[in-house]
Amino acid sequence: MKYVRDSTHRLRLRPHFEPKELDDECEQIITTFMQDLHGRLIFPLHTDDLTKLIERDAAKLDLYADLTHEGVDVEGVTYFQPNQKPIVRISNHLSDGEHSENRLRTTLTHEYGHVKFHAPLWQVEDTSSLALFSDVLPATIQKCQRTTIAHASATDWMEWQAGYVCGALLMPVSSMRKLVQSYFERYSLYAPLHQATPAARDLINQIAVHFAVSQDAARVRLIKLGSLTDQDVGPTLFQ
Ligand SMILES: [Zn+2]
Repeated sequence: MKYVRDSTHRLRLRPHFEPKELDDECEQIITTFMQDLHGRLIFPLHTDDLTKLIERDAAKLDLYADLTHEGVDVEGVTYFQPNQKPIVRISNHLSDGEHSENRLRTTLTHEYGHVKFHAPLWQVEDTSSLALFSDVLPATIQKCQRTTIAHASATDWMEWQAGYVCGALLMPVSSMRKLVQSYFERYSLYAPLHQATPAARDLINQIAVHFAVSQDAARVRLIKLGSLTDQDVGPTLFQ
């Protein structure tokens, strides 16, 4: 991780993580947490375990929040507080069972990304934060909309990082690579497959079922890890 200028102007400097850094740290976090809780890593991750993970590292988790006044399609918020652990609030629409359990789990892991990787910037005990910002950052609320929970544009670093963490926690890198490698070997395939091919669609479905995530979350994760591509490479691709 290194600090770079923050073009979104939230902060003067902001943390930059390479995808591999987030993959490795998220895998370490979820593996250790699940081993402590259940003695082993079990997929798919259970929603209750994800709430326990947030409760461990946040001051408070509210699963039944009314977020209608926070803006259109806001499904989760994280309050960053100076020198205190953050507070996470999840829209009651996700927790009351009206919607897919997968969306709740996606939002929980996204907000955990803010808790783990961004809230430390508000801790004055962290001398590196003080050195960087020269003063305590004011309390700030991060509002997360449904459309950017799983994958935001890279121009919004905070949402992009939280979205990456969401995929890296629900579908840890080593487990993903093992499944994908065995699939590619079984059918003599080579990465990256185009996401529109029948084999890619079948792989997306298998990943979605194994980790209990949406097809879209599985597709995005496979693209980020280089197993699939959404780029057309030439006119002969589908011939
Ligand atoms: Zn967010």
